Amino acid sequence: MSGQSETETGTAATAAIPECPRCLKPLPLCVCDGIKPIENRVSLLILQHPQEQDRALGTARLTAMHLTNAVLKIGLSWSSLSKALGRPVADPSRWAVLYLGSAKVADLDTKSDIVAINRKGEVEDNQRAILKDLEGIVLLDGTWSQAKALWWRNAWMLKCQRVILGPSRPSRYGRLRREPRRDGLSTIEAAAMMLSSLEKRPDIAETLHASFERMLTKYREFQNEQPQLVLKPRPRRDFRRRRRA
Ligand SMILES: [Zn+2]
Repeated sequence: MSGQSETETGTAATAAIPECPRCLKPLPLCVCDGIKPIENRVSLLILQHPQEQDRALGTARLTAMHLTNAVLKIGLSWSSLSKALGRPVADPSRWAVLYLGSAKVADLDTKSDIVAINRKGEVEDNQRAILKDLEGIVLLDGTWSQAKALWWRNAWMLKCQRVILGPSRPSRYGRLRREPRRDGLSTIEAAAMMLSSLEKRPDIAETLHASFERMLTKYREFQNEQPQLVLKPRPRRDFRRRRRA
């Protein structure tokens, strides 16, 4: 009971703060002014679970706003990659999905931080050729279980290449949020890592990380200045369903 009412208070406080119409974040957390457009060659498609509502700390929209070649879709399932993307795709195998399975880069015999794997979770033979050939990447945005739901409801992803990431440092979220993905990265960090690696453009990662850091700084400042309006990380409701009274 007390847990529930505490959550509701948090939500009400958040709702009272006006939102930026562009990034949909509470205004004190908006970093829209400093968004530097990035012309990315490798396309980005972000699929966001409809129940992903972490407006304060979420990064999908911020990521898409930065990139000139990015699409953000909110929904649960699409019949094909083309439908999700809103334009024709000749060869879905030239698109990579950041895979959510149990394969971990640390367990594989590789020094790369982005690895193409096959359906058995093994390193694909021709890494360089596969990665060089990629036209686009798909990121699933939401909590771990929301991302899993997206994976299972979109069978076309089976036609896409699977890649996994081995980030060299933990997420910049720190303790602000429990990691939404198994590799522990936020959507903006995953996009930064993949695009800068595939395009060999460290500036992509620098620009995205700078925005993310600015957003986190604003979040922390806001929490310090107005602790009564703390924008709490959402309660974790995916693992145990809350019992209705
Ligand atoms: Zn904004």
